Amino acid sequence: MSQNGSLERRNTQQPNGEMGGSSRLRTSPKRDHKPENYDDIQSEFNPLMFSYLEQYLPPHLLNISREEKVQYMRNILTRYLPETERIRVQKHKEYRRKILTNYPPLHKEIYILHAENFFTPSFLQAIEENTESSFKSIMAEPSKGLYTFEMLQPQFCEMLMSEVDHFERWVHETKFRIMRPNTMNKYGAVLDDFGLEPMLDRLMNEFICPLSRVFFNEIGGSTLDSHHGFIVEYGVNRDVDLGFHVDDSEVSLNICLGKAFSGGELFFRGIRCDEHVNSESQPGEIFDYCHVPGHAILHSGRHRHGARPTTSGSRMNLIIWCRSSAFREMKKYQRDFSSWCGECKRKKKERERLSVAATKQELLKRELRPTS
Ligand SMILES: [Zn+2]
Repeated sequence: MSQNGSLERRNTQQPNGEMGGSSRLRTSPKRDHKPENYDDIQSEFNPLMFSYLEQYLPPHLLNISREEKVQYMRNILTRYLPETERIRVQKHKEYRRKILTNYPPLHKEIYILHAENFFTPSFLQAIEENTESSFKSIMAEPSKGLYTFEMLQPQFCEMLMSEVDHFERWVHETKFRIMRPNTMNKYGAVLDDFGLEPMLDRLMNEFICPLSRVFFNEIGGSTLDSHHGFIVEYGVNRDVDLGFHVDDSEVSLNICLGKAFSGGELFFRGIRCDEHVNSESQPGEIFDYCHVPGHAILHSGRHRHGARPTTSGSRMNLIIWCRSSAFREMKKYQRDFSSWCGECKRKKKERERLSVAATKQELLKRELRPTS
């Protein structure tokens, strides 16, 4: 679920609070204040949102109980949600509650992240070392901005796939009206909706953020604070292919879980900002990727891509769209994205080339001018 709380509004406006002038939020964060951990708090807002906001609380509220702080911050955040959004959030909360109280999980052990059982030893070791060179030692970068590596153990992939099958059967048997992962897939399931949100939170914070901080720093990779985690299913009686698109994410992780299939390659066509999303690809931007079970591909959400038809067998992929509210807020005030958009970069180079050529021409003219 996306959280659209505006940083700027949070920083500069005073909540219409009942506590008067003293309840004014600080205009800049109190950086030496260590916020509490809110991971276990059940609310419509991402726990990280509370941790961020805590540094902006007025001084006298910093030492009240954690529950009181949550109450106070929830009141503030709720005011910034428009009415329709508030209704949508409420409905979605109700939808999740229905699933959580009625759906009996098949493999309880995958609902809590257990690193040794989930990840391959090479991946775990690279994360533990937490250096750029340790990450690079397990990765390939077959095309600029695309990172592939072995990540999940076969046994975990099996369990996750059978959990999803089990969930789909439950949906079918109980005639539950399920919400699909996005507007483009008719099949598949949102993992966050049936109890896997806390597990995916940890997966993002402890295992994706270290990588995105290094490889996607300029597009919000160091400030990821929410995610949308889902499964897509391709093959007979499932989705066939997926059209050309960009993800609603800053950084996307796409992991093939299995099973036996042919086709289904991902085709990539360069990173683009909103304005240039339909511009042509340059030769170096064209790349096709073949899925390997257990292997992941990490890419910018703005890296344009699609999936070719899965021609036989069936394929399931786990996809996590990671988002950064700070980056989204900042992006609103920028026009030039030449640090990451292929087309902005190309245009900037072209401008520089023209300006250098113009300068040369001017100098040449001066040299040729006859001296009197
Ligand atoms: Zn651009």
